[in-house]
Amino acid sequence: MFSMPASGIENQISRIEENMKHKGRFGDYGGFYVPEVLIPVLEELEEAFYRFYQDEQFVADLARLYKDYAGRPSPLYYAGRFSEHVGCKVYLKREDLLHGGAHKVNNTLGQGLLAKYMGKTKIIAETGAGQHGLATAMIGALFGMDTKIFMGVTDIERQSVNVHKMKLCGAEVIGVEGGSGTLKDAINDALRYWTANVTDTFYLFGSACGPHPYPTIVKHFQTPIGKEARRQSLDIIGRLPDMVVACVGGGSNAIGIFSGFVDDKDVRIVGVEAGGRSVSSGLHAATLVAGKVGILHGAKAYLLQDEEGQVHDTESVSAGLDYPSVGPEHCLLKDTGRAEYVAAEDEEVLDAFSLLCRCEGILPALESSHALAWLLRQKGKLDPEQVVIVNLSGRGDKDVGIVEEHRPMNVDDK
Ligand SMILES: *Cc1c(COP(=O)(O)O)cnc(C)c1O
Repeated sequence: MFSMPASGIENQISRIEENMKHKGRFGDYGGFYVPEVLIPVLEELEEAFYRFYQDEQFVADLARLYKDYAGRPSPLYYAGRFSEHVGCKVYLKREDLLHGGAHKVNNTLGQGLLAKYMGKTKIIAETGAGQHGLATAMIGALFGMDTKIFMGVTDIERQSVNVHKMKLCGAEVIGVEGGSGTLKDAINDALRYWTANVTDTFYLFGSACGPHPYPTIVKHFQTPIGKEARRQSLDIIGRLPDMVVACVGGGSNAIGIFSGFVDDKDVRIVGVEAGGRSVSSGLHAATLVAGKVGILHGAKAYLLQDEEGQVHDTESVSAGLDYPSVGPEHCLLKDTGRAEYVAAEDEEVLDAFSLLCRCEGILPALESSHALAWLLRQKGKLDPEQVVIVNLSGRGDKDVGIVEEHRPMNVDDK
């Protein structure tokens, strides 16, 4: 119902484009390709966002929550021992230290507060790895709102600890059976539920993708990462970094940190996608690296699809990057060449995970480990004086079981 193949949609595109003018457009990407019933709801959301995001009270409330609830600002940490392995100066933006263990809380606090200001009493959300579900369940408890989390059954199995944590926070977890039981299917069901429950329900979307206004809203609530990192870089290092690297799933942590540096033309910007292989065809699953332009979940973007325009399922070692589309702004940054997009493979990701554990005592999320893995591959190509900031989007506690599955370790292992 909400996902359409790229071919045969031209009429529909031009019709809706006329209605929606240039709302939520990043170049030709993004937009508003949704069923009629969702249009007034998304417009209500857009209006509310523009009314409140600069409102003095809203800004003050959110600043307090970022500081006292989430633990912002997150540190910019010089990873000295890891730097020796890469051959340049590596700083980690420690989003892993935030409450909940990832950058996701920045967005859920922002949208949760918006929901409250809008007078909504119920929240729904989709989740893949469970990180966004958990971050939503947390703020559902915080704001006293009835919370439902849609999660694919495959992901529920892969991330049972996060499911348990969501339930502890009082959320209801709804298992989604359709498709491959992953993030794409959870989003379809959440959107379907929303269309039937729009009056009291706020859909708290998890990444900087989907229909307008979500890419704009989610980016806004993730911009503290980039603002802080830029200021910290000037304070701690005395200059801007030469390069900023972040992993890309839907694109929220990446657009958050990139936003701080996009106007600094000398800063190289790199997004790292999951190169885990697709089950059906053996093609690489990296959306920006290997995708073609199409429409999924209400937005035009690079999409993984086959010759017939069927959307591919992705398969990566980390469920958090397991999404066959990507945020529209990243598509534009790719086309204009302002940012580069590359892929990291599962094996090198697991190597990078282990290395950061062993030389820094920091367990990175497998998602974040993609950024570390690509950087490690640049060894020998980088000037030792180069400064690189890697956005450490989350901590790896949730992934210990998956790592153990792929790299069984006995306790005497040296
Ligand atoms: C969800 C998640 C991601 C991927 O989502 P983006 O929207 O691309 O940031 C990356 N890292 C961690 C730790 C996550 O939980």
